[in-house]
Amino acid sequence: AALTASELIALEDQYGAHNYHPLDVVITHASGAWVTDIDGKRYLDFLAAYSAVNQGHCHPAILAAMIEQARKVTLTSRAFRNDQLPLLYRDLHALTGFEMALPMNSGVEAVETAIKAARKWGLTVKGVPAGTAEILVCGNNFHGRTIAVVGFSSESQYKCGFGPFPTGFKQVPFGDVEAIRASIKPNTVAILVEPVQGEAGIIVPPAGYLRELRELCDEHDLLLMCDEIQSGLGRTGKLFAFEHDNIRPDVCIIGKALSGGFYPVSAVLASREILGVFTPGDHGSTFGGNPLACAVARAALKVLVDEDLPARSADLGAYALARLQSLNLPQIVAVRGKGLWIGLELNIKARPICEALKDRGLLCKETHDTVIRLAPPLMISKEDLAWGLDQIEAVLKAN
Ligand code: PLP
Repeated sequence: AALTASELIALEDQYGAHNYHPLDVVITHASGAWVTDIDGKRYLDFLAAYSAVNQGHCHPAILAAMIEQARKVTLTSRAFRNDQLPLLYRDLHALTGFEMALPMNSGVEAVETAIKAARKWGLTVKGVPAGTAEILVCGNNFHGRTIAVVGFSSESQYKCGFGPFPTGFKQVPFGDVEAIRASIKPNTVAILVEPVQGEAGIIVPPAGYLRELRELCDEHDLLLMCDEIQSGLGRTGKLFAFEHDNIRPDVCIIGKALSGGFYPVSAVLASREILGVFTPGDHGSTFGGNPLACAVARAALKVLVDEDLPARSADLGAYALARLQSLNLPQIVAVRGKGLWIGLELNIKARPICEALKDRGLLCKETHDTVIRLAPPLMISKEDLAWGLDQIEAVLKAN
């Protein structure tokens, strides 16, 4: 007989590492902005797998591309060529304007790749002495979970017990241009920044922050590296969040929605001068650039464009932000965001609110104890979005 929700949860708790604390909803199906649990109850998804499903769950066009490619060839490794990778490169170039791309799988791998590129660019192009390159990173950053990346996190839990960490990173407060200026040294090679900080609680920097960083980078010959893994591909109402400041970074890191949630696909986008530092054998990944991933990513990018999802995000986000800001409720400390990506900061713990929302059929996830992050799929209908906001209002009024 099929297992029940509580039996599945018990199995997971017994045999799986407890590195997450999920809401106890066991999802078996999903379509668009809605998911269904094992008991047939439907929920509206206001997290979209941390923005990996911007296109909506199980998008039929991406699904068709995945199945079609899976029947042909899924993995060649980069020891050989395949017929899909060149097409993904071409599509990424056409859509984003960056000269080159380097494909990886998870987001953090792409971040690591960007760090390696910046260091080698520092050595071979900028002329920084070997082994001394420094990269500036921001306070409260989130770039993933590898040793190097948690090593420059400001979150003690992410690091505690996992040291020692690589050196060569210096943290400066997010949003503070002067702090960055004061930290630049002759061996500084790059600034790594999230245009909007996601895990930190949807923190939007002062307007013009990236523009000023761009100027600093030009002045001091540094690479501006934007981690657009969560903020990119439509989430903030533009294809990339850096477009709000009318600038272009030297390095753009993407992942998550690059596959619409079907498959881990990430990439580093940059100029030939920067990605050209890699020579055969310098860097790689068994699965990076595989034909299945490339076919999925091409379809996922096409959906973003065909369905005009960045513009939908801008429109729906403005509506949702205005509605939440007009709620005059004592538990709400701040409502902030860009596009359909909103942080609702409370003066009470967010977890019980998320539990209560789940009972009403809305899936949200807290970040940092007191913030509820709202990031529905960008294809959500206005009616569904309004319904979700109704549930938030009702739960806050009842708590
Ligand atoms: N960078 C940012 C800005 C992210 O939000 C995330 C994931 O949430 C990552 C990097 C890491 O991506 P992944 O979990 O795919 O390694």
